[in-house]
Amino acid sequence: MNPFLFKDPSLESYFRSVILFGKNSASYKFALAKSLLDVASDQSRSFVPLEELAVPFAFHICDHLKLNDKQTTAKSSTFLKACQDYNDGSITEDQLISITTKYGFVNVLDAFHNVNQNALPVSFFDSSHPGSTKGIYLTDDLYRLLDSTQSFSIEQEIEARWRLVETAWSLQLPLQLITIDHDPVNNDFFIHQTDQHKRIAITSSRPALNGYQKGKCFYCYCDISVITGSNQLADVDHFIPHRLSRYLPFNLDGVWNLVLSCQACNRGQGGKSAQLPHHSYLQRLHSRNEYLINSLHPLRETIINLTGATDQKRISFLTNIYQMSSDLTGPATWFTEPKGPAVF
Ligand SMILES: [Zn+2]
Repeated sequence: MNPFLFKDPSLESYFRSVILFGKNSASYKFALAKSLLDVASDQSRSFVPLEELAVPFAFHICDHLKLNDKQTTAKSSTFLKACQDYNDGSITEDQLISITTKYGFVNVLDAFHNVNQNALPVSFFDSSHPGSTKGIYLTDDLYRLLDSTQSFSIEQEIEARWRLVETAWSLQLPLQLITIDHDPVNNDFFIHQTDQHKRIAITSSRPALNGYQKGKCFYCYCDISVITGSNQLADVDHFIPHRLSRYLPFNLDGVWNLVLSCQACNRGQGGKSAQLPHHSYLQRLHSRNEYLINSLHPLRETIINLTGATDQKRISFLTNIYQMSSDLTGPATWFTEPKGPAVF
């Protein structure tokens, strides 16, 4: 079992595993995940006909085609062609919905609950259709997920993951040359294409990281948020303090070193701030990074490029850099009591 689920087999983790750990040969799972959240916002229903589901589903894809014309690794798709035609104004909305109903859901409904060949033990919808009208039945598990404090963040996490994947697809580069960088001023991720001296902004870094920490503070496991304006808005924290950059031959703005922290853990009196955290957190950082490795491109390649190709090399990398850091700062004592169960 994926350790991500083993540690915390909750509805939120199952839903996140679909988004974060899928094989992703097309963006249909992202569009379906967003559409499920859309149609379930009307709490009173359970059956959704396919032609109704087709509306948000097609429009999510149309919106992303405007950002990025690469939405699959396959050569062609009748459904994607229809979305492109709609964006170009050459077919009507009715035609788009009709084609989506017919072709858009081929495979994705059956595949949604499969993550790397394993069927999830929960279902957020049921697509078997005993009646004559094709559609899906929304399950109680989906509504329970929506009731959880995590559901608002999950919508942004889908969007962030989608942006990362489609950007990786669209770059005509070998995957090992793709590295995500972090802009600490805007808190977003970008790809720097050295050959073209181009910087491509991808997504805000908070929702891109949040799912791997299950919406919890890296240090104390309390709930955090990625929604701008929330009083629980997470801080993006450098595990190895950024101030050591000038002494260490490593990119401390790399994804491997960025964690989300609650404001209490990061700021003010008793906060970690620019300190090196206690050694006992190093294993947690490694586990979190392994979740990123298990997520297909481009985060996987980024972590491998920066920290090593094997589990053992990555552990050595972290141990080594931690040792160099504590040689500079003196023994690290910052530690905080957990406020919740160790879910990652
Ligand atoms: Zn905290």
